[in-house]
Amino acid sequence: MSVNCSATKCVHNDKDGNCYAKLIHVRGELPASVDGIMCHSYAPEGPLEVEFALEFDAPCHQATTSNIQCGARKCKHFENSKCKAGDVQISKLAATCETFQGRT
Ligand code: SF4
Ligand code: SF4
Repeated sequence: MSVNCSATKCVHNDKDGNCYAKLIHVRGELPASVDGIMCHSYAPEGPLEVEFALEFDAPCHQATTSNIQCGARKCKHFENSKCKAGDVQISKLAATCETFQGRT
């Protein structure tokens, strides 16, 4: 049920791989590969932080997979815009969902 995120440059990341976003938007409806499935809640650190402050309406809780809203219908863990994977791994460079698995 955990979200482990390597995108430590994201303002929602506690730099220890944990996400504190209230809602994690993962999108990529028709991906050619996992590279198309990204966390769109990624917000870079810096002056633009304020723009992304909407999701900081505290209290802050460590996000779990239940905080994910996903649009990747082709993923086998997708169910009604929710993620049913046990744990989710988000990548460091492009914040892609590495847990994506195509339906067979
Ligand atoms: S990239 Fe997404 S999953 Fe990772 S810390 Fe940011 S909002 Fe959370
Ligand atoms: S594992 Fe699948 S359903 Fe879960 S967030 Fe990633 S792409 Fe979406």
